[in-house]
Amino acid sequence: MTTTSVTIPFIHRFASELPELALPWQGEDVPDPRLLVLNDALADELGIDADALRTPDGLRLLTGTTVPAGATPVAQAYAGHQFGGYSPRLGDGRALLIGELTDREGRLRDLHLKGSGRTPFSRGADGRAAVGPMVREYVVSEAMHALGVPTTRALAVVATGRQVQRETVLPGAVLARVASSHLRVGTFQYVAAAGDVELLRRLADHAIERHHRAAASAERPYLALFESVVAAQADLVARWMLLGFVHGVMNTDNMKISGETIDYGPCAFMEAFAPDSVFSSIDVGGRYAYGNQPAAAVWNLARFAETLLPLLDEDQDRAVALAVESLGTFDTRYRATYGTGLRAKLGLPEGLEDAVAMQLCEELLTLLHESHVDWTSGFRALGRAARGDAEPFRGLFVDLVAVDGWLARWRALAPDAALMDRTNPVYIPRNHLVEEALDAATSGDMTAVHELMDVLQNPYDERPGKERHAAPAPVDFGRYTTYCGT
Ligand code: AMP
Ligand code: MG
Repeated sequence: MTTTSVTIPFIHRFASELPELALPWQGEDVPDPRLLVLNDALADELGIDADALRTPDGLRLLTGTTVPAGATPVAQAYAGHQFGGYSPRLGDGRALLIGELTDREGRLRDLHLKGSGRTPFSRGADGRAAVGPMVREYVVSEAMHALGVPTTRALAVVATGRQVQRETVLPGAVLARVASSHLRVGTFQYVAAAGDVELLRRLADHAIERHHRAAASAERPYLALFESVVAAQADLVARWMLLGFVHGVMNTDNMKISGETIDYGPCAFMEAFAPDSVFSSIDVGGRYAYGNQPAAAVWNLARFAETLLPLLDEDQDRAVALAVESLGTFDTRYRATYGTGLRAKLGLPEGLEDAVAMQLCEELLTLLHESHVDWTSGFRALGRAARGDAEPFRGLFVDLVAVDGWLARWRALAPDAALMDRTNPVYIPRNHLVEEALDAATSGDMTAVHELMDVLQNPYDERPGKERHAAPAPVDFGRYTTYCGT
């Protein structure tokens, strides 16, 4: 086995504590690695020398073709419900966990590769990834991070120089991604299905230790673990909703125990506000539509609860009752985070009575919906209205009488414009701009990606000359559809 000279002190917590779920494996060789984009700030956060990653050895590390000294890459096993149907064996079919490392703040982070070749979990697929979808994950996950949403991070995308067969032939790439772990609801499903309670307990202990430490000292640690995941997911989905983010493929294998967003396949940002917004070509039933995301999260968490039952109580009925009660906390938690966030989007004062605030919010949502107002720029325009310039906002609506009535009541509450500008981003990864940048990246030109990343890194700071990046898609962009099988 070849080793590289880039030295990163990897440890192997997952592989050593849960060897039953870790298959030692190596990436396939990469004929002509070429760095497309590298996240210098994240490398620094990880204590990795970014310049070392740019060397031929670094690129081999970032593609999984050679193993860093002391590392033992593994493919992770997991199961999952995909669009409601259960697959007992998914796992890393084109990904590898290189290992964990401790970042500058002492946090344990996974270094994980996507597109690194076939593994025993590939199920007949090619194990590869194309430049477009990997750059897409890079752009959108880093944008989400800048927007303050818990998410996996992107360290680099390296083009492989190999062609990948999709509907057309596309250039291949490997994404290096960083996460606090890759434990999924599907990881628990895989173990629960095997019926090995000792392994299940080890997995749950591992999850508690890595993500939900307070649960360890609770009276019922595994119930506390469950409740902590419920809370993390309720907060996460509320943040998605406040930003108009549609994940698109909320399968249980894409829901993380840490509460970080993962897998930016068919995701999209909603423009015209409509709760039934769906972008994924395969989501014909709208299972993962914008407005269904909280319910989809609860459904997934119920599947998670099922896996934990043997650890919750010896008495099965009692275990179920405890899980049901804990799952009920999602709603309260979700509504608290979403409600607080929505109030901030409207700049409403803290002391305002809840019922009054919610009434005002709901009326605004109805108006936005009726006039197909762009979610992101609409709220930003409302911020200008709080500063006295209401015309750009008014201009977005069909029914001016209704809007003026609403504005008068809202203005009477003295909305906080500064709070609104801190809460409502100017720049999100606009679907048409992302597509434009990915097309260029696929042809080898990364200029548009860098331009996009430049504004997305400071999404709340309005910058002159960047109006195009703040505007919704032109009408001729049409209805936006995303595709799986990336
Ligand atoms: P995803 O849609 O990326 O969340 O992946 C769902 C499952 O399909 C995971 O088990 C992946 O490893 C697997 N998968 C997706 N694309 C490929 C591919 N090109 N080759 C092998 N496995 C894949
Ligand atoms: Mg996935």
